[in-house]
Amino acid sequence: MLQKIGAFLDTFFRPLERFVHQYILGPFRWLLDKIDPFAEKIEGTVFKKILQIAIFPVFMILTVYVGFEMVKDGYTSRTFVDTIIMFLILGFIFAPLERLIPYSKKWIKDDETPVDIMLFFGSKLWGDYINVPLRLGTMAVVVQEISPTIGQEIWPTNLHPILQVFLLLTVADFFRYWYHRWMHESEFMWRWHAVHHSSERLYWFNGTRSHPLEYTISGLLWAIPFAFIKAPVEIVFVTGLVGRVIGRFQHTNMDVLLGPFDYIFSSPKNHRYHHSKKIHEGNSNYGGDVIIWDHLFGTFHMPKGEKPGDDIGINAMPNYPKTFIGLMLAPFTYGSIKKEAERIAVEDSKESSRDLAELPADK
Ligand SMILES: [Zn+2]
Ligand SMILES: [Zn+2]
Repeated sequence: MLQKIGAFLDTFFRPLERFVHQYILGPFRWLLDKIDPFAEKIEGTVFKKILQIAIFPVFMILTVYVGFEMVKDGYTSRTFVDTIIMFLILGFIFAPLERLIPYSKKWIKDDETPVDIMLFFGSKLWGDYINVPLRLGTMAVVVQEISPTIGQEIWPTNLHPILQVFLLLTVADFFRYWYHRWMHESEFMWRWHAVHHSSERLYWFNGTRSHPLEYTISGLLWAIPFAFIKAPVEIVFVTGLVGRVIGRFQHTNMDVLLGPFDYIFSSPKNHRYHHSKKIHEGNSNYGGDVIIWDHLFGTFHMPKGEKPGDDIGINAMPNYPKTFIGLMLAPFTYGSIKKEAERIAVEDSKESSRDLAELPADK
């Protein structure tokens, strides 16, 4: 039934997806294509190396500085608007940088038309420009209004503010770690989280690729621990902001080099393993902002001297929906997607055993 409704809705949305891909994203694609010759020119140069090493720390320092400026008079409606503006600016910086120093050439290709459109109209628009500011706002309100009425003050407010931000990032990520791990280990939760893992490319735009329902509920859930942690509102806000910038880096296609930071933060390198099609790689690196809890609970995966591959997505479900409507309905149609995937796997194994049987004996 749901699949029929989905197919019906697709007949309206698919032409719209194609239209936006061609006429709205088209000019951006044309502009970004112009960067490719520069990317070739800087290949192997010291300039590129400096860029690869400097981008992450520079962004982090700037985010902390700008964040504290945005909230110096407390969390106000102005902070809310500034957060939206900041995310818009980030997009305009990240997209060209990804073309200048790409990690995977395969991930540049955006001919997965419907997926791109889904990202823009679906969770992307909702995620970046509405839900994230809303989530940061909810956390700030929880801390400002509710926290003072609960329990005892335990937060070390005498620590340097920057240390407080990184302490809060780590404490809050404990809850995120387990929530994320739960989404991978429970099939009921996976049916929601699979939307995030269905992407076959990683780039700055798809960090918030999640089902809007899952995103909203988890966002509100994460606000609860903040009420008990009782950190000052400016620390909570800057931590949230730093977390969102880390989220951009996690999914970026920029070939940034983080060095020791790969062992502290949830980074592009370790998160690429988390999106791998190989199960043992995918069920690792659950950290949202930091990777510290993965070290502690034995789920850290980043073999020395190895680079994560760019073959990502859901291996067991080659038939996973790729359209906006398909993805919105996917948590509800998960049962039939799984059944179909199992049928395909049986067919494939029959075919390969037939191929083997037809091979000459000495091969
Ligand atoms: Zn995941
Ligand atoms: Zn991810």
